[in-house]
Amino acid sequence: MKLHEFQAKEIFGKAGIPVPGGQVATTVDQAEEAVRSIKGPPWVVKAQVHAGGRGKGGGVKVVNDPKEAVAAAEAMLGSRLITKQTGAEGVIVNQVLIEEGVEIDRELYLSMVIDRAVSMPTMIFSKAGGMEIEEVAAETPELILKESLNPITGWMSSQARNLIYGIDPIPSKEAIRGLTSVMAKICNVFIENDCSLLEINPLVVTKGGEVIAIDAKMSIDDTAAFRQQELVKLDDPREKDPLELQAEQHNLNYIRLDGNIGAMVNGAGLAMATMDVIKAAGAEPANFLDVGGGANEDMIAKGFEIILQDERVEAILINIFGGILRCDVLARGVVAAAKKTSLSVPLIVRLEGTNVEEGRETLNNSDLDFFVAKDLAEAAELVAKQVS
Ligand code: GDP
Ligand code: MN
Repeated sequence: MKLHEFQAKEIFGKAGIPVPGGQVATTVDQAEEAVRSIKGPPWVVKAQVHAGGRGKGGGVKVVNDPKEAVAAAEAMLGSRLITKQTGAEGVIVNQVLIEEGVEIDRELYLSMVIDRAVSMPTMIFSKAGGMEIEEVAAETPELILKESLNPITGWMSSQARNLIYGIDPIPSKEAIRGLTSVMAKICNVFIENDCSLLEINPLVVTKGGEVIAIDAKMSIDDTAAFRQQELVKLDDPREKDPLELQAEQHNLNYIRLDGNIGAMVNGAGLAMATMDVIKAAGAEPANFLDVGGGANEDMIAKGFEIILQDERVEAILINIFGGILRCDVLARGVVAAAKKTSLSVPLIVRLEGTNVEEGRETLNNSDLDFFVAKDLAEAAELVAKQVS
């Protein structure tokens, strides 16, 4: 689950990480009120959407006149913002954050993620802030510095020093104090909130040597939701893909991809393998739908319905290895969903495992039109042929 920038900054503020003063507005009236109560010029007006790259897409405006600030808010509210991370159709801006502008001397990068290679939360620090970190990592990997947070020792001041003295030029004395403090607090925020990602890009050093987080990204590990009820309340379903939202409500793992083949699979490993064979056959998956091991008929039906609702889907591949999920349960779910939402694209089915005969029979006895594939390779080839 992702938080909005303003929500993450509120958490930062409470944890003692300096952030600019700001106020959220969902209407033009609220924007006017916010500009009146926030210190400026300059003011910064920022679209609150769950996507980065807003600066380049017109979702961040630095302005010197209160009227301009309100006008920027008015233009953003209700508009569609297109950034590198939103896709071509963009996302609707429902709220803006209006902030005190900061005089920037230096833009740094600071984040914390789980590094699976070392099985520890790991801090990433770079002098190349304000840019896309993926590009920095690809072109100038030497500018990316890392230190892992060992759960036994905790964060150590020597690690902060390694990072801070590792950038060129070395920050001023005052900035070093600020950075050391922010790094230690980021570790606390990351652990206390069960984060999967915390990112401040840029972490700014002002002319006066102050260290301030002017951007904030925060993702919470969904499996920790049960003990993070206060954070769960901050969830904004408007930011999600509607089909992903439906899947979430039915405990299905669904991820939207860019292709045109809908794929329904059980188990993440089989889903990965299925995507690979679809790609190897020259086609592109439209989604990753893993119904999981313990799916019941209703969940299968819902999963199939989600695929059928996706207008980009031109062919569907069902690839199930029946174990705990029995093939007959799957077949009944598919038939039920197809009755509700008519099937207008070719369907390829590859079924194996528990109760496979019963499953095939259910499909054969329905008025569904489908191809049966004898193995995974044939299934991929058949489905790719439908869209080529
Ligand atoms: P993102 O593009 O979605 O990552 O949004 P950011 O919050 O990172 O803002 C993008 C850029 O806008 C930053 O890298 C800064 O260069 C600029 N910016 C944001 N806030 C301020 C501010 O208070 N003062 C100044 N001068 N520039 C800012
Ligand atoms: Mn940013």
